[in-house]
Amino acid sequence: MCSVKRLIFVPFDQLHYGYGALAGADPESDTLLLVESAQKIDSYRQSNHRLHFYLSSARHFAQEMTQRGFEVIYERAPSIPVGIATVRDRKNVDEVVCTTPSTFGQQRILTQLGVKFVDNDFFLTPRALFDQWANGQKTYVMESFYRAQRVRLGILMDGSKPEGGQWNFDKENRLPPPKNYTWSPYLTHEIDEIDLEVGREIGFEPAGTWATSRSGARAQLKNFVDNHLAYFGPLEDAMTTENWALHHSLLSPYLNIGLLHVSEVLEAVLARHAKGDIPIASTEGFVRQLIGWREYVNGMYWHLGVDYKNSNNLGATGQLPEVFADSAKTQMRCVGSVVRDVAERGWVHHIPRLMVLSNFALLAGINPQVFLRWMQESFIDATEWVMVPNVIGMGLHADGGQMMTKPYVSGGAYISKMSDYCKGCKYNPKLRTGDSACPFTTLYWDFLDRHESQFASNHRMKQQYFGLRRLADRDALKARASEVISMLEQGTL
Ligand SMILES: Cc1cc2nc3c(=O)[nH]c(=O)nc-3n(C[C@H](O)[C@H](O)[C@H](O)COP(=O)(O)OP(=O)(O)OC[C@H]3O[C@@H](n4cnc5c(N)ncnc54)[C@H](O)[C@@H]3O)c2cc1C
Ligand code: SF4
Repeated sequence: MCSVKRLIFVPFDQLHYGYGALAGADPESDTLLLVESAQKIDSYRQSNHRLHFYLSSARHFAQEMTQRGFEVIYERAPSIPVGIATVRDRKNVDEVVCTTPSTFGQQRILTQLGVKFVDNDFFLTPRALFDQWANGQKTYVMESFYRAQRVRLGILMDGSKPEGGQWNFDKENRLPPPKNYTWSPYLTHEIDEIDLEVGREIGFEPAGTWATSRSGARAQLKNFVDNHLAYFGPLEDAMTTENWALHHSLLSPYLNIGLLHVSEVLEAVLARHAKGDIPIASTEGFVRQLIGWREYVNGMYWHLGVDYKNSNNLGATGQLPEVFADSAKTQMRCVGSVVRDVAERGWVHHIPRLMVLSNFALLAGINPQVFLRWMQESFIDATEWVMVPNVIGMGLHADGGQMMTKPYVSGGAYISKMSDYCKGCKYNPKLRTGDSACPFTTLYWDFLDRHESQFASNHRMKQQYFGLRRLADRDALKARASEVISMLEQGTL
């Protein structure tokens, strides 16, 4: 029997030859193993975009590593552990090695199999360093972490001061969608034989929205830096039916499976910034997402522990309304548009995720784990380490405020200000009662009312509770709120 000294297991979210276990790999002595697990495929069934992206990227990577001279085994198996065990026995393997996994579940499974781990360097912040920061905080405020990252990594710094004189340009970065604006183009990626093969297997026609190889991901990065970075900041929170991507980078899918590494994205952005014609508000806004939010969310995932995802501190029990499966089941223009966009591409930017989908789920009392499952099944960039803190902590405040000091809730006014959804909607964002009342507005006030005992003493919510107490129509509001929930359940809202 031929024997393999070192088998390097490459999970489908670590597809980079320069990091983790692959950084020191040698085609002479190492064999690579990718396992296409039927169990994983089943969990991706909901979104063909996601399933296609996941399978095609892995197969492209296997091809690329073969071209680099490695023996690559691409094993189809019922599950990852079965795949690894089968190959280990078949090839008489001495040792199985892998980069430390990106999720608790994978870490547990691979530990049980006796796989040896190499440090995970897909992030800029080692887990121990994040814990050190978190253990020294009273509250885990992202802004403090982000500033410490800027200093530690020496990014956008003038000596010990932030470049541009401010740490944060959020105030400038909240413009609504512009009128009569020409949006810069996005790439359509070439579809090759591997893409078509995967498409045939799963019954899906790829449209080229998402690249499935490192070269495609690099092209996406270049397009962002060349054509979008300069305008990223001011419009990063805007939502419009005229353009699905605005100036967002569309890089999260590639970053999350390793086709791009965070350091090369940073390098490209900072090199472009160094030319001097990119507004600081845009560069800073983007850098904040990357070295701030992304690293913070990953750190929090590990810091808060494996059970965090089951949190439901507000006791929300609502089931998933039909509108999440079928956008035609609502007359709310915002929710309908966003759900349609998600179905079309598996992606919407952070504000529709936070202020439309999660805000709605929170206001309507949808169970956090039910909503989390839908989000994980629907988004192209979904992976547990990023979805769990974003949904449980930031979106649904289901963790009792461990991540965010107050819930991200708003009525229709915010959506009306930041989007063009409300024009042409059956509902009126200014009304909270009556048949034309915007469901967001009704449910927002009802949320404050329902959770008065939990949040009234939160000093960051003083203004909101002051407003609630001045309402003269609280009974009518409650009655409309229960009508709204019934209509939602019946698919008639
Ligand atoms: C409820 C909710 C769920 C989310 N689920 C996911 C998810 O499953 N996968 C995912 O990658 N992002 C998730 N995000 C974060 C964010 O919405 C996406 O990273 C972003 O929209 C991806 O598009 P982009 O690459 O164009 O991002 P850009 O707006 O161009 O931002 C650049 C990069 O910053 C990082 N980033 C920005 N915000 C966050 C954040 N809150 N958490 C982590 N990274 C961030 C991403 O890597 C992103 O690619 C979620 C946010 C919310 C509010
Ligand atoms: S009026 Fe309300 S439901 Fe309609 S689009 Fe605006 S926020 Fe959404």
